[in-house]
Amino acid sequence: MSLCDLAPDYIRAIAPYQGGKPISELAREMGLNEADIVKLASNENPLGMSPKAQMAVEDAIADIARYPDGNAFALREAVSKKYGVSANQIVFGNGSNDILELAARAFLQPGDEAIYSQHAFAVYPLVTQAVGAKGVVVPAIGFAHDLDGFLQAITSKTKLIFIANPNNPTGTLIKKDALKAFIHAVPEHVLVLLDEAYDEYLNEVDKSEAVNWLAQFPNLIISRTFSKAYGLAGLRVGFGLMHAEIADIMNRVRQPFNVNSIAQVAAIASLADDDFVARSYAANQAGMVQLAQGLHELGLEYIPSFGNFVSFKVKNAAQVNQQLLKGGVIVRPIANYEMPDYLRVSVGLFSENAKFLQVLKKILEANA
Ligand SMILES: *Cc1c(COP(=O)(O)O)cnc(C)c1O
Repeated sequence: MSLCDLAPDYIRAIAPYQGGKPISELAREMGLNEADIVKLASNENPLGMSPKAQMAVEDAIADIARYPDGNAFALREAVSKKYGVSANQIVFGNGSNDILELAARAFLQPGDEAIYSQHAFAVYPLVTQAVGAKGVVVPAIGFAHDLDGFLQAITSKTKLIFIANPNNPTGTLIKKDALKAFIHAVPEHVLVLLDEAYDEYLNEVDKSEAVNWLAQFPNLIISRTFSKAYGLAGLRVGFGLMHAEIADIMNRVRQPFNVNSIAQVAAIASLADDDFVARSYAANQAGMVQLAQGLHELGLEYIPSFGNFVSFKVKNAAQVNQQLLKGGVIVRPIANYEMPDYLRVSVGLFSENAKFLQVLKKILEANA
């Protein structure tokens, strides 16, 4: 008997999450200098974090011997004020991935079904399978979510629907009217988890208004993160906004101290720094234009993206990925998203984007 046989079938069937390769790992493997490596593989904020958040972090280090506030009182006040929701409508997570997992653990059991799109964020199948529920994949249309297909996929076993808007790794966006009509059409006993990890990168017209829909749709859960535009990926903090009764249930399966004390103060300071978010947005807009132009000039197809990353098509993507690594550039292969001909590159600083495009150009010329 293998020790793995001790685990249920549905756990053994899980394919582990493949994250972006850390800079230190590539440096070790290739004998490269860490300073010469450009990492554009995990949709991190190239500007780092808000300077206000950094100051808050430095101050909070003195209190690390204490447990964090398990109810995140001060952060709860800040989120409640910013989003106009009651304190009891918020659940905090160790990253927003934790919110996805809490939803799965609180509401799914073996025999239940959760629906998500083909090419959608890899964590949806992970959290679904981890609780023994069945993942139902709706084929994408031109890389975008097929909302009519979602409605047709709903059965008496469906408990939860995951929607990433914008989606990662495709960068596609569902417009507000279509999204609202969809949620309206979903039966009330099916939860809709709307993952808005990249909302801060949307322009004023496209920015989500879903928080205003919570009163109308008690089955709606919105997840948000501090990992992307706020630049706190390493601290792991995110939150969900939802009906108070849903929050109550999710909090029952939440680890009491899932958000550490440093993350809590950094998140509070970040929410108060609109200027940093505005700078991050502007830098992303400029970098996206730079990458789109560069890819176009290289004759490569890419999927127009509403996030801080773009997926592009390239011949022999796995090989090109290896060549990029050798050249000190880390991007993300997305074969595990059923996109074997694509690579995903995050929008970096001007110089990082330029290095990526320059190394890619040389590779394409060498492979031609
Ligand atoms: C990056 C990302 C997240 C954020 O994950 P955290 O756990 O908050 O770091 C959530 N959803 C999607 C679709 C993402 O791409």
